[in-house]
Amino acid sequence: MPAVPARLGRRGLAIGIDIGGTKVAAGVVDAHGEVLAELARPTPATDPRMVEEAIMGLVSEFEASYRIWSVGIGAAGWMDQSGSTVLFSPHLAWRNEPLRKNLEYKLRRRVMVVNDADAAGWAEWRFGAGRGESRLVCVTLGTGIGGSLISNGMVERGRYGVAGEYGHQIIVPQGHRCECGNRGCWEQYASGNALGREGRELARANSPVAQDLLRAVGGDPDAITGALVTKRAAEGDPTCVELVQDVGHWLGMGLANLAAALDPGRFVIGGGLSGAGDLLLQPTQASFQRHLTGRGFRPAAPISMAQFGARAGMVGAADMARISARSGTRGTRPARSGT
Ligand SMILES: [Zn+2]
Repeated sequence: MPAVPARLGRRGLAIGIDIGGTKVAAGVVDAHGEVLAELARPTPATDPRMVEEAIMGLVSEFEASYRIWSVGIGAAGWMDQSGSTVLFSPHLAWRNEPLRKNLEYKLRRRVMVVNDADAAGWAEWRFGAGRGESRLVCVTLGTGIGGSLISNGMVERGRYGVAGEYGHQIIVPQGHRCECGNRGCWEQYASGNALGREGRELARANSPVAQDLLRAVGGDPDAITGALVTKRAAEGDPTCVELVQDVGHWLGMGLANLAAALDPGRFVIGGGLSGAGDLLLQPTQASFQRHLTGRGFRPAAPISMAQFGARAGMVGAADMARISARSGTRGTRPARSGT
C-alpha cells in the first residue's frame, strides 16, 4: 500500500494513532474499519512535546490527501474518566498529561485519547473476531498483557478508569518478578516477553532440546525473542512448539479466572503472539476447560484469535474517535453505534 494514496473526500474518515513503546503507527480509517493509508515514526519517548509534534506531523501529512473527521490516540496507560488526561503511561513520559486539550488546540479538531488495549478490543468488537458480542473480553499479548471489556457496546473502564489490568492478576505466588512491583503476575507467564524469556533460559541451560533454537541465533541466547520462538514454532521446531504450548497453559488458566469474574460471551486473543494461531489456541482452550470453575455446569465461552493483528489499536482508536465526534459524546465510552 502506498503511504498516502490519493483517495479524497470520503465522509467519516478518522485518523487512528497507536503510540507504542518504539513506534507511532498512524492510519486513515473509514467507517467500515478499512485502513486507507498508513504511516509510522519512531516514538520520541523522552519528551511529551515531541510526541505531540510527531502526532501533529502525521495528521498534517494525511490531511494533504484526506478530509479528516476526528483523531483517535491509543496509548498504553491510564486515562482519566473523561478521556482527556493521560494519568500515567509506562513507556512514555506522560504523567498527568492533558493530552487531548493540547492536541485539540493545536490540531483544531476533535481528539479522543484512549487506552491502547481498549482500542484494540473495540476494533475486534466492531469489525473483527468479536463482532457484535454483547460481552467481550479481549487480551492483547505483547510485551505484557493488555486487557479490555466491552459490554453492551461500551468500553468498561471501571469506577476509576483503570480496569482491564488482567495481566497483573497473580497466578504464581512468589513467581517471576513483574515490573509492577509484584511477583507472579499473569503477564510474566503468558506474554511475548514470557515466551522469549523461557526460550533464553532453555538455551542458557545448554539443554540439548534447545540446540536448533540456539543455532538459529548464532549461539547467542540473548538474541532469542518471543517473536522468534513463535516463528520457529510455526515452522515446526518441536522445542518452540512446546514453549508456545506452555504459554497456552498459563493463558488458559488466566482466562478461566477472568471467566469466573467477568462471565464474557467470548474471549479474543490479540497481539503478536496471536500469530501462533492454532499452536497457541489449542493448548489455551484445553487449559481453559481444565481450570474453568464449575466446569461441566456452566457454559464455556469460546476463545478466538484476533483478526486485526498489529493494526487493531489504530483501527479501534480511529473508530472510537469517529463515533464520539459524530455523537457528540466525550470520554472513553463511545455510544453504541449501528454503523
Ligand atoms: Zn505485575
